[in-house]
Amino acid sequence: MVQPVLKALPRRALRLGGLRRSNSGREQALRRVRADSLRISETEVPLRQQLDTLIAKLLPPGDQRLGTVLQAVTRAKPALESRNFAHGDVESGVRAFRSLCDDIDKVVLPRISTAAEVAEARRFVQGGFFSAADNPPKSVAAARSILDRLNQHRIRRNLEYRPAVVNEPGIMAFGNGGDQVILSRGIVDDLPADEAAAIFAHEIAHLEQRHYTSLQIVGAVRRRLGSGLPPDLQKPFSTLANLATAGLQREQEFLADRGAARMLARAGISPGSLVAALERLRVAGPETISPLADHPPLSARIEILEGLAGQIGR
Ligand SMILES: [Zn+2]
Repeated sequence: MVQPVLKALPRRALRLGGLRRSNSGREQALRRVRADSLRISETEVPLRQQLDTLIAKLLPPGDQRLGTVLQAVTRAKPALESRNFAHGDVESGVRAFRSLCDDIDKVVLPRISTAAEVAEARRFVQGGFFSAADNPPKSVAAARSILDRLNQHRIRRNLEYRPAVVNEPGIMAFGNGGDQVILSRGIVDDLPADEAAAIFAHEIAHLEQRHYTSLQIVGAVRRRLGSGLPPDLQKPFSTLANLATAGLQREQEFLADRGAARMLARAGISPGSLVAALERLRVAGPETISPLADHPPLSARIEILEGLAGQIGR
């Protein structure tokens, strides 16, 4: 029962929430599209541009908070260069950068409109990642019917989540903000409907909680800081920012799991379906566990979800 799906998981099989395990040309295409998307003209000012403008105002040259992070990076430089990420100076540096990003997020996130997020998602979907073979009508219809069921239980009432299907086997899903859930055909073709719904609910939770936009805010703060750094601090800062970003992404995974479990319960679907879907991924292959990993270990996610399932549903 499980086996055919696992067999169908190709080497490029992907983890929930990202393309990180992909070795296919698509991953490169994804990177290219992310860069290109900034050049596609839209009536809505591109998100990156909005963020850079806002953050330049919030963090003018000489801002004390920039100085605090700069000092922390200077202190952590030797440990960062020897990749001793458990060193106290690295931890303090990561905390200093995260704390600045969290402060900026509180001010900036409410100022980014839903329309800007949707425009960003549209740019991605129209930007060359999908080929003519993608969005096979049968799989799109199946995905839409599952999403419709979840849409009734969404929190952001001004959005209606919609599918875009990559015509590949295996389990892969992600979103770039807005209203778009991007998924592999394998999710709707090969998984039990409740597990497919659980994966969608996880992606919807990322979208509902605006995780993609928060990550873009971290990227903008990073650009702001990086532009003023002396050359010898550029590389250590980049490593420190990577550690902080990965830490935020891991937190977002737990938050998305929690949001998904709640949404599933509201839709009358057992939150245990998400555990079942994650178990499939766990069996599919070994994980990279590193301070730079953007996903927490599946075992930790499953453990937390099992506790939650006891509280909120079956
Ligand atoms: Zn995720």
